Amino acid sequence: MPAKDMSELVSLCQRRGFIFQSADIYGGMKGLYDFGPLGVELKNNIKRSWWSNMVYERDDVEGIDSAIIGPSITFEQSGHAATFNDPLTECRECKSRMRTDKMADPTKCETCGSKNLMEPRAFNMMFKTQYGPTEDSGSVAYLRPETAQHIFMNFKNVLDTTSRKLPFGIAQIGKAFRNEIIARNFVFRVREFEQMELEFFVQPGEDEKWHEYWLETRLKWWESVGVPREKIKVVDVAKDDLAHYSKRTFDLEYEYPHGHDEVEGIANRTDYDLGNHTKNQSELNLTAHVHENTKSNARLAVQDLEAKKWVVPYVIEPSAGLERAFLAILNEAYTEETLPAKEGKDAETRLVLKFKPHLAPIKAAVIPLAKNKPELVNLAKGIKADLQKLGLGRIIFEDTGNVGKAYRKHDEIGTPLCVTVDFDSLEDNAVTVRNRDTMEQQRIQIADLSAYLRKFYTL
Ligand code: ATP
Repeated sequence: MPAKDMSELVSLCQRRGFIFQSADIYGGMKGLYDFGPLGVELKNNIKRSWWSNMVYERDDVEGIDSAIIGPSITFEQSGHAATFNDPLTECRECKSRMRTDKMADPTKCETCGSKNLMEPRAFNMMFKTQYGPTEDSGSVAYLRPETAQHIFMNFKNVLDTTSRKLPFGIAQIGKAFRNEIIARNFVFRVREFEQMELEFFVQPGEDEKWHEYWLETRLKWWESVGVPREKIKVVDVAKDDLAHYSKRTFDLEYEYPHGHDEVEGIANRTDYDLGNHTKNQSELNLTAHVHENTKSNARLAVQDLEAKKWVVPYVIEPSAGLERAFLAILNEAYTEETLPAKEGKDAETRLVLKFKPHLAPIKAAVIPLAKNKPELVNLAKGIKADLQKLGLGRIIFEDTGNVGKAYRKHDEIGTPLCVTVDFDSLEDNAVTVRNRDTMEQQRIQIADLSAYLRKFYTL
């Protein structure tokens, strides 16, 4: 049962330390967010799951981590300088700015309802910056609006150092920046975000088959992180709405609290990007219309020995936003349950985040039953230290002295297991392990605890 509306997610994220407004002590900056102690763990776990699925579990993908700033030539060649625009309009009455393609009624101001709007104009979303100590046209650079261009620029480096043959991919997770006209819907549309991108290079002619393959593969991954297929609408983007580089794109639209909206795009970028960045463009049989006269010093092509020619691969790109994934995964995990009345206690509701265990920010909380009992505290600390060594992720020592409260907190932040150390533990060398989802409690020998957790987290 997902959240009823976005405000429930926002409030939970602030209350428990998942996400904070950036620079909030100075009034905040719209469209920028900071991830807190739990948010950073969830984010890292999502990235790890994506990387594992896209790189480690395959034998045809390599990873990179490139620079964030790129020279202006990169984005001139890629088409972003000329075409990475959104249509901007401004209300003459209240001065609000809006993106006309996202307005329900593009003739009416979303803020004050006035029809006195300016003609839409193209607004380039790239963040411009200056590179080095001199301020001339040669020092203009951009914060990358997608991680992809740096993957294309590294195509030959990766090819030469790994001896890859088609088909193969290059994956990257990292920051991207877009000066969105309106940042809205919490972390859904922000100005600084992370992308998880794969550029998968294939023989021209095999692109359509691989495009279908990646759609299916990505839907499986979304399922593995708790976002079921029936919550994702696959949209075959209409020709007129395609990005400037795309031959065909599938948008995966998740059912967010604010409505269906894009969580991932899977595009067939053809030979457009490598074609734009390669030297000897005129000698290569490019199918995409590219910007000529690149100053690139590398041939971004593979050799077809039989046909004795150079081939510029086509590329299929599954590109997912980490913040949008975070929000979808959080929303799917969000559960309010009614616990029936029992033993004189009234029925109550509990809020629990039912994350898949591998995504949970905290893997286990070790809780001594009483706060000021050194024997219990020391035993609990020792257990925490031992469990931490398993490498499963963060284990915490929770010294609140109130087990009921600790259970409620860990339900709310999605900790799959709580390990309670009580006075009997000092005698029988056993602890109580409570399961987040079933709320069942089980007595387990301390000596068996590591094996129990290892098994729990590998299931
Ligand atoms: P939209 O139409 O929502 O602006 P887009 O089609 O421009 O998105 P792409 O260029 O396909 O987005 O980028 C790939 C992915 O990067 C998107 O599917 C999304 O998950 C993420 N993304 C893009 N823009 C933003 C943003 N402003 N904030 C958060 N994530 C974003």
